[in-house]
Amino acid sequence: MTEANYEARRAKLLKKFRECGIDSFLISSVSNVRYLTGFTGDSSWLFLSPGLTVILSDTRYETQLSTECPHIRTEIRDAASTILDLAARIVGASGVRQTGFEAEHLSWATHRLLKESVDAASTGTLVPVSGLVERQREVKDRFELEQIRDAIHVAERGIAVVRSSLRPAQTETEIRYLLESAMRDFGAIGPAFEPIIGVGPTAALPHAHAGKRTVAEHPVLLIDWGATNIHGYRSDLTRVFLTGKPTKHIERVYQTVLAAQKAAIAAIRPGAKCADVDKIARGMIDVAGFGKFFGHGLGHGFGLDIHESLRMSPLSGQVFEPGMVVTVEPGVYLPGKFGVRIEDDILVTQDGCEILTKVPREFEEAFVGFLA
Ligand code: ZN
Ligand code: ZN
Repeated sequence: MTEANYEARRAKLLKKFRECGIDSFLISSVSNVRYLTGFTGDSSWLFLSPGLTVILSDTRYETQLSTECPHIRTEIRDAASTILDLAARIVGASGVRQTGFEAEHLSWATHRLLKESVDAASTGTLVPVSGLVERQREVKDRFELEQIRDAIHVAERGIAVVRSSLRPAQTETEIRYLLESAMRDFGAIGPAFEPIIGVGPTAALPHAHAGKRTVAEHPVLLIDWGATNIHGYRSDLTRVFLTGKPTKHIERVYQTVLAAQKAAIAAIRPGAKCADVDKIARGMIDVAGFGKFFGHGLGHGFGLDIHESLRMSPLSGQVFEPGMVVTVEPGVYLPGKFGVRIEDDILVTQDGCEILTKVPREFEEAFVGFLA
C-alpha cells in the first residue's frame, strides 16, 4: 500500500462531497482515518477538503505519524488544547462553509462542544454525514482482498491446531486460549473478536462467552472465530464440530443450516439484493420448522472492522457489487439444548461469488478424530 493508494481513496471520497452538501469533512472514526491515511493510532481526526488534508493528533502520535503518514500534513495539539480547538482552528483558517462530521461516530456531547468551537472560530456550519466512508469501504480493493485472504489463512491454520488437539476434558475457555495463541503463532496480531466457543446449551447462545463446559458434555461444539492480520484486516468463520454421537435431531438441524447456507451463497452475484439472499436462507430454515430459532441477519461485511456496513437481513436495502466481501452465517439456536451456525466469507466477483474460506463444512466432515 503506497501513499498514492491512500490518496486515490481520498480522491474518490472527495467526489462525493457535493451530493452530501459539504465542502470539507472531519473524519473521526479510527477505522475510517486508517482506511484513508494508513495511520494505525487512535484519538486522531482527519480533516479533508479539496485543497487541504490534515491529520489532527496529539504528542503521543507525533513520531508514529511522521513514519506512517510522512506525506500528510499533521497538526499536533499540546496538553492545553483539545482536538476540538484544533478542528475549529482549521475549519476557520481554511474558509470552508459546510463541514461534514461523521454522525455515527461523534457523540452528542462531543458534537455540542465542537459546534461551540466552530461557531467561535468561523461562520461555517457543521453538517451530519452518515456512512459515507463506510459505503466506500464496502467494495474492497486489491490490497484489502490480499489482507482478508491472509486473515482467513491465519484463522484456518489456527483452527486446524485446535481441531487436532481437541480432548474430551478440554473446557471452552481452554480451547479459546489455544485458538488465540495458535493464530498468533501463525502471524495474527490477535483474534478478530473474542472467539465464541460453545458446547451444547452454550452453543444455543449466538454470542456466548467461552466458559467452563467441557467438550465431553455434549456432542455439539460451536466455534466462531477469526484473526486480525498484521495490516488490521479480519476474518470471521463459524464451524460446528461433532465430538460425540449426534442425535438424528442434531443432524437434521445441521443439514438444514448447511443447505440454507449453500443456497444463499449460490444466489450471491452482482445485482442481487441482500434482502433477497437473506430471504432464501430464512425461507428454507422456516420450511424446516426452525424459523423462530433464527433471529439474526444472514451476514455482514467485514474488513478493518469485524462488522461493516454491508448487511444481509430482511431490512437491508443494499445490492451486491463486485469486490464486496460478506459473511454468510445462518444459524438455528434451540434454547437449553444446542445451536448450529455455519459461517463462511464470500467475495462477490464479476459474475458470481467466490467462497474464500476453505474449512470443510459437510456433516460427515464435522466429526472430530477422537471419536474413532
Ligand atoms: Zn462469526
Ligand atoms: Zn459474522
